[in-house]
Amino acid sequence: MNAIKQHIPAFVDVEHRPGWIPFDTTDELLNLDVVRRYRDEKFHRWSKSGDHLMVESDEGYEWWVVGFLKDAAAVDLPAWKAKYLARLADGREVTLTDETTPRVWSSCGGHLKLSDGTTAVNVRSERQMAQQAEDRELELQGLCPQCRTAFERTETLQSDGFIKARDVCLSCGRSITSWRPVHT
Ligand SMILES: [Zn+2]
Repeated sequence: MNAIKQHIPAFVDVEHRPGWIPFDTTDELLNLDVVRRYRDEKFHRWSKSGDHLMVESDEGYEWWVVGFLKDAAAVDLPAWKAKYLARLADGREVTLTDETTPRVWSSCGGHLKLSDGTTAVNVRSERQMAQQAEDRELELQGLCPQCRTAFERTETLQSDGFIKARDVCLSCGRSITSWRPVHT
């Protein structure tokens, strides 16, 4: 029997760290709730990178680690390859991978370092960052970035002297938790 453990980055605050979820076939794996949740309207395909199950979206230009596979070899999925939409110094937008000429050496923030010594703009991540900045702006105004309706706020005083604020969107269920110190 194979198993998957959901990947939750260390900085994400969750009450219980996920455990191993058993499955038999690749189909069964892809139908697990915890996996299906990663399928959004921009879904492209599932793939694997080493012992990681990956989800690719936006035609493969965006990806996330879904989880760790106990036996990746037994899972029948294509190999993940990084793919970038790059705006070159001359303004052209081209798709680059680690196999194109030039190749992508490294990616940092919105920039790509290429094998010919030049730097290119990572177009998708530039767009994503603009989107995130816009979302953040709406959140600061107390609005759900998705529905643009006002969040319901619940505040509780924590024993460590911080106020925990939980904003919930009653339309889509999105919630954001934040903390701030009590000023006396
Ligand atoms: Zn909402």
